[in-house]
Amino acid sequence: MADIIQLLPDHVANQIAAGEVVQRPASVVKELLENAIDAKATSITLVIKDAGKTLVQVTDNGIGMSVTDARLSFERHATSKIKSAEDLFNLHTKGFRGEALASIAAIAHVELKTKTENSEIGTHLTIEGSKVISQDPAVVPKGTTISVKNLFYNIPARRNFLKSNPVETRHIIDEFHRVALAHPNVAFQMLHNGSDVFNLPSTNSRQRIVNIFGSKTNEKLVPVHEETEILKIEGFVLKPEFGKKSRGEQFFFVNDRFIKSPYLHHAVSSAFEGLMKNDVHPGYFLFLEVDPHSIDINIHPTKTEIKFDDEHSIYAMLRATVKHSLGQFNIAPVLDFERDKGFDTPYEYSKKSPTAPSIEVDRDFNPFKEKPKQGNINFPFKREQSASWESLYVGLNDENASVSNLDDIEFESEEVTGSLFENTETETGHTTFQLQNKYIVSPLKNGMMVIHQNLAHQRILYEELLKNITVKEAVSQQLLFPLQLHFSKPDLEIIEKIREQLEHTGFIFSEIKEETIEISGIPVMILESHVVNLLSQLVHDIKEEVPDSGFSQNDMLAKSMAASMAIKTGVSLNREEREHLINQLFACKEPSVSPNNKLVFTTMDVSDLDKKFM
Ligand code: ADP
Ligand code: MG
Repeated sequence: MADIIQLLPDHVANQIAAGEVVQRPASVVKELLENAIDAKATSITLVIKDAGKTLVQVTDNGIGMSVTDARLSFERHATSKIKSAEDLFNLHTKGFRGEALASIAAIAHVELKTKTENSEIGTHLTIEGSKVISQDPAVVPKGTTISVKNLFYNIPARRNFLKSNPVETRHIIDEFHRVALAHPNVAFQMLHNGSDVFNLPSTNSRQRIVNIFGSKTNEKLVPVHEETEILKIEGFVLKPEFGKKSRGEQFFFVNDRFIKSPYLHHAVSSAFEGLMKNDVHPGYFLFLEVDPHSIDINIHPTKTEIKFDDEHSIYAMLRATVKHSLGQFNIAPVLDFERDKGFDTPYEYSKKSPTAPSIEVDRDFNPFKEKPKQGNINFPFKREQSASWESLYVGLNDENASVSNLDDIEFESEEVTGSLFENTETETGHTTFQLQNKYIVSPLKNGMMVIHQNLAHQRILYEELLKNITVKEAVSQQLLFPLQLHFSKPDLEIIEKIREQLEHTGFIFSEIKEETIEISGIPVMILESHVVNLLSQLVHDIKEEVPDSGFSQNDMLAKSMAASMAIKTGVSLNREEREHLINQLFACKEPSVSPNNKLVFTTMDVSDLDKKFM
């Protein structure tokens, strides 16, 4: 048999390698920013167009490249950063593989302008799909500008695979944050489609965080500091009350390199134990310094994982240090901060320092019990207010608390449910019961139905919200004192974009400026104390996946809000509430699936049961 193995031509090999290094525009941003840092730049400008799909450009004032180096930098495995395998274990630079520029040049139109300090004249080089198109002398300032245009122009499949512009922009901003946070002494600027996104002067670590995440961040930061033989820790954690339901600001840097580490995350989370509720995540910006010999970052070009030689000690030190900082800054355990304390805490308690754990973890807490500001248009469960906080202390005996309100409860669409359920009367509910504070069980003519309370409520709210958003006729409850909420600039831009839809659900924004939103009215369906969480979750959801079209944006808005507002698992529901939920569910257009396409209820026939006994 003849020999059949051939070496791949360079441009093919580069294209294959590119797949590893460049997944999306944000990967290019990361590589170019890191190269600029490695080149000792003190000022770096990132310019993107169309979420990086059309252009990613990074300009730095670093050391620049000679004419030969400029040409060589696009060769695979061409690097100035390591010379031997030994150096791999003593890395002080971001890059070391010499793969990034070669990969990028294989799948885009690249232009490089560069000049070193001492040369009179610089170099201008263009390269497309690994082919050098031109290389000329050029008059350029000291430093380097690399423009990457039309990413994936020669791999349409990859180009089509890119997400919507807001999602890709989000990824770019994430990378930008990581590099900018790790190098506060370097000035950064970012422009998108011609307008300023960030303008960060050279400063210290704390100020950099504040410049990125908003001026209100400053007062949330608790400094962390520790230095031992094997590890130095610097940085900040966010005070426990600023923890988020969604994973918010969580940054680990090891030797100025952003890393992800579930293990170290666990160490920090466990230091917050007892200070935060279970479903809330701490925020942190932690900079670890270790001997480069004691870590292995050489796992994968794009991965952010890292291996420590002595993981256990690092875990223990990190946990102890964070705990110590929280203690030192006298951060006492907090009460359930989502709740309006005026209503659920007896007077004398409200003056005491909030340390009573029995109040803090109130798993049976029922949001429907305390709705002092409820406008109650079409809200399922109106309750008598007076008994609400007392009932927290007397074992949640809510069956009696609301008897007087029975009249207020509306039963909708009896015909729809009537035929399905055992009796044609509305008394069906009398036989419903709750399982594990999670499911509602109701008998049917021929068996029974098990309804997931959270998903059912999501469906109800989702349809209601979607109607409000599209028909534009929601009712607001005016707030006596407008709410002032603080968001970072990018988050605020997101809210600004969906402002109109939010207003249709009942929000009234009296002012949006800088980093502050003033809200003077909220939808009747929600509690004032839930607004912060609802909006943060919404912003988070939108960042994760923003559909471009107006329709799907409404859809995702309704989904996100419904998920935030729906009764949770673990909430006990009394008879009227169960009944009302069932009735509302079956008045929905699509009762059987949740907004996220999960099963809302299931039924079981007697014949199914019979089979079990055969
Ligand atoms: P690596 O960063 O792993 O060395 P790259 O492909 O990213 O590989 O870059 C190749 C080489 O090009 C670098 O080692 C460096 O010498 C040079 N280089 C890249 N970007 C810059 C820059 N902005 N300024 C100066 N030199 C650069
Ligand atoms: Mg590099």
